[in-house]
Amino acid sequence: MGSTLALKHFLAQFGHTVTVISPTNWAGWVNWLPGVKEVVDFEKDKPKAEAILDKAEWLFCLDFNIFHRTKTMTEKLKQLTCTKILIDHHQEPDVVSFDYGVSDTSKSSTCEMVYDLITGSGYADKINTEIGECIYAGVIGDTGSFRFDSAHAGVHRLTADLKARGLNHGRVHENLFDNFLENRLRFTGHVLLNRMEVFYEYNTVLIAIPKSDLMKYHIKTGDTEGLVNYPQSIQGIKFVALVIDRDEERKWSFRSKGEFDCNTFARKYFEGGGHYNASGGRSSDSLEKTVAHFKQAMKENEKLLQ
Ligand code: 5GP
Repeated sequence: MGSTLALKHFLAQFGHTVTVISPTNWAGWVNWLPGVKEVVDFEKDKPKAEAILDKAEWLFCLDFNIFHRTKTMTEKLKQLTCTKILIDHHQEPDVVSFDYGVSDTSKSSTCEMVYDLITGSGYADKINTEIGECIYAGVIGDTGSFRFDSAHAGVHRLTADLKARGLNHGRVHENLFDNFLENRLRFTGHVLLNRMEVFYEYNTVLIAIPKSDLMKYHIKTGDTEGLVNYPQSIQGIKFVALVIDRDEERKWSFRSKGEFDCNTFARKYFEGGGHYNASGGRSSDSLEKTVAHFKQAMKENEKLLQ
C-alpha cells in the first residue's frame, strides 16, 4: 500500500490519472495512509476495477512479481495489452509477463525502489509529506523498523533525506504500531500462551492458529501481521513458522535468522516463496494435516536448522 500510493502521489503531480487497485481488501491499520480512501478493492468492486484496467495505458505492478500472487485478479492482468512495468524486490520474478521493470532482491522494500525511481528521475523536489509518509511506512514495515540486514546504508540515507524534507517519523510509527483495538492485543497474548510450540532441538517455533480463535477474538485481515516476529525474541531460535486457518486456505508465514533459507523452504513444501529470511506459503490441507506436513519438513531440515 505504501509503495503504490507513493508512486501515485508522484505520477499525479505530472498530470497522470493514477488509480491504485488492491487485489483484495486490506488491513484497517493502513487506512491512515494518504490516498488510501481512493484505492479500489478488486474483489469488492470488480466492474469498477476492470473498467479502470481496460482503459489503462500503463500498469505498474508493485511488490509482487508473478501475476498469480494477485489471486482473483490474475486472469484480468494476463489479458491486458497495455505496457506492464514491474517494481519488486522478491526472488524469481516472472520476467516474461512484464515489458519493463526492476526486480532487485538487494532492496529493502518496494518503497525504497519507488524512492530510487523518484530521485533517479531528477524530480526529488516532488517528494511531499504524502510521498514521504508512504515510503517511510513501507520501509519500516519491511525492515522491521531498521533491524533486518536489508536496512543497508542507503535505507538510512533515504530516511535522513525524507526527514530533511519534513517527514514526521514519529507520526508514522504511532499510526503503524499504536493504532489497534484491545482484542488484537488479547489475541496476541492468547496465541503466545496457548498456540506456540517451541522445538529447541530444531531451533524452531511453530504457531498454528485455528479459525475458532480468529472468530472468538474478532480478528480481521491484517490483525495477525507481526505475530510471526514475537518468537524470534527467544534465545537461539532460528526459524519461526506461523500458519493461520483462513477460509480459503491455510496461510503460512516463515521468518529466519542467518543461514536458513525461508524462500527455498516455502517453495519446496508450501507452494510459496518470498525472501531468504522472510517468506510465505499456502496449503489446501486441513490445519492438522498442514501442521503435520510442517513437522515432517522441519525434521528433514534438521541439519540446516542447527
Ligand atoms: P508475510 O509472512 O509477511 O505474509 O510474507 C513474507 C514475504 O513472503 C513477503 O515478502 C511476501 O510477499 C512473501 N509471500 C508471502 N506469501 C507468499 C506466497 O504464497 N508466495 C510467494 N511467492 N511469496 C509469498
